[in-house]
Amino acid sequence: MMNLNFKNIADSYLFSTIARKVSEYSAAHPDANIIRLGIGDVTLPLAPAVTKAMHDAVDEMGKQETFHGYGPEQGYDFLKTAVQGYYASHSTKLDADEIFISDGAKSDLGNILDLFDTNITVLVPDPVYPVYVDTNTMAGRKIIFMDANESNGFLPLPDASIHADVIYLCSPNNPTGAAYDRAGLKAWVDYANRENAIILYDAAYECFIVDDTLPRSIYEIEGAETCAIEFCSLSKTAGFTGTRCGYTIVPLALQRDGLSLNKLWLRRQTTKFNGVPYIVQRGAAAVFSEEGLKQIQQNLSYYQQNANVLAQILDELGIWYTGGKNSPYLWLKCPNGMKSWDFFDLLLEKANVVGTPGAGFGANGEGFFRLTAFGDQAKTLEAAGRLKDLLGK
Ligand code: PLP
Repeated sequence: MMNLNFKNIADSYLFSTIARKVSEYSAAHPDANIIRLGIGDVTLPLAPAVTKAMHDAVDEMGKQETFHGYGPEQGYDFLKTAVQGYYASHSTKLDADEIFISDGAKSDLGNILDLFDTNITVLVPDPVYPVYVDTNTMAGRKIIFMDANESNGFLPLPDASIHADVIYLCSPNNPTGAAYDRAGLKAWVDYANRENAIILYDAAYECFIVDDTLPRSIYEIEGAETCAIEFCSLSKTAGFTGTRCGYTIVPLALQRDGLSLNKLWLRRQTTKFNGVPYIVQRGAAAVFSEEGLKQIQQNLSYYQQNANVLAQILDELGIWYTGGKNSPYLWLKCPNGMKSWDFFDLLLEKANVVGTPGAGFGANGEGFFRLTAFGDQAKTLEAAGRLKDLLGK
């Protein structure tokens, strides 16, 4: 009677083990000033333009003449137009019907699997954001892993000898911070079109790209509209982790087995989803206003400065890492061949700094460690100094 595939999902002990280790250490050392560089959540508040738009929307909801009930499941036109304008500002032309407003990338990354048969092969990079593996495992799909490692800079390229039906790419990546260049993405797009595969492209961290030569959307790559679905989110772009809003792009040109994936997704969403709250969509649209974009850029710059501080220390220490430049994540090789959890213990005990052991993101994460730039600036600076003192000896 039950979906027994749930038995195959690995329990995630990563963040609970970190929390337990930190609380045990704090209990034994109550005076320790612990700095957390493990967090993947934002810390800065919503931009004033966003809260103003949301307040105004609340007022509208309280008046008969401007009250909103059920909205379009795929999002209000005012927000779709704003997203369309954002893509256009990065030279990507989208049709409004290709944009689906969601309550965040995580839901859509899981829900999109409704469109695919169970009996397909799914290709997932290792290490990876755990949602891709767990959602497919729940549905009983076969997953094959591709190695992301030091030798490919944690940016694996297609292996022509392997066939996949669905491919997950995340760029800039969580946990590695590595971002594909145009040539890398082009190789994936060509492979997917050749294999009749679909790329599920997670662009949740596109807003951290500062290098203009790197693509912010897979649709900047020729041929992507016939093989890729893109997922994006305002969570990291504009601090919407607790407010919930994202968008998914399903091109009108995307067809498989004689079916339009855009039409299937519309049908799926209108059947199982009733849209993002009007108030939240008004706040989201304000992100893309001139004022909103300026304000969120200040927050992004704050995080980018943290990333720069951490990157500079790793450079000084001669530690190999990816990310930190077009990403809020730094993925470093643990010094002296240490294992991820041993390095975690060392940093906690000797520097009172908490990060995330890479082994928690997949087998290839062993020996690596993730630091994040989402913390307080003064504390990040202090943590960087402690890392230098500890590891520079
Ligand atoms: N995709 C990646 C790679 C993430 O790291 C995260 C959140 O940490 C998400 C998606 C989830 O985004 P959202 O908050 O929009 O659900």
